[in-house]
Amino acid sequence: MTRNSASPRLPAGARARAPQVLSALGRLYPDARTELVFNTPFELLVATVLSAQATDVSVNAATPALFAAYPDAHALSQATADDIEPYIRSIGLYRGKAKNLAALARLLVERHGGEVPNDFDAVVALPGAGRKTANVVLSNAYDYPAIAVDTHVGRLARRLGLSVQTNPDKVEADLQKLFPRDRWVFLHHALILHGRRVCHARKPQCPSCELASFCPKVGVEHVEG
Ligand code: SF4
Repeated sequence: MTRNSASPRLPAGARARAPQVLSALGRLYPDARTELVFNTPFELLVATVLSAQATDVSVNAATPALFAAYPDAHALSQATADDIEPYIRSIGLYRGKAKNLAALARLLVERHGGEVPNDFDAVVALPGAGRKTANVVLSNAYDYPAIAVDTHVGRLARRLGLSVQTNPDKVEADLQKLFPRDRWVFLHHALILHGRRVCHARKPQCPSCELASFCPKVGVEHVEG
């Protein structure tokens, strides 16, 4: 693939295309935000851990009862994985997630007084969390500028010719080069919405997509007519 001479890791034309992408997404999804339902940073952290390889809809269906039983880290730190499992059984990988949540709550209490730390490295170090979780939690709970790269963000970044990378951390680095810092959180949410609604993994709806006029559609083979 041809690379941008000023930045060898970026696809050709990425810097010119980025403002078009941002402008179109701004028109389409002016209120883009996480679809996970939460009231506190603790609830967002738990919901984000639960959302790994699961839909936000399935997480939102389970969390009200979970949070009613365990409203904060202190309460959850008293629970075992067996206690948590019945609340999250409808969510994929629930056994591992129940173990992680029990351990995560204990660590929050032991190291952070039961609060979710406003610190990237501290959140990444929590059981069941990682770079994507830290980005989601810190950007939504504390307005920390971040672009969490999930399957939608990565796929759209490549199709839109904004990155050639497959490693989420490298895609994130490319997007950070291309977009203003104060739009990173918006971009993350808007790309996810566009991936869910239009630019589907298997059959993207290119003919009706409002980004089609400037999207290079990298790697797109099956288009929904
Ligand atoms: S034109 Fe096609 S590949 Fe490009 S963003 Fe739209 S749906 Fe996705």
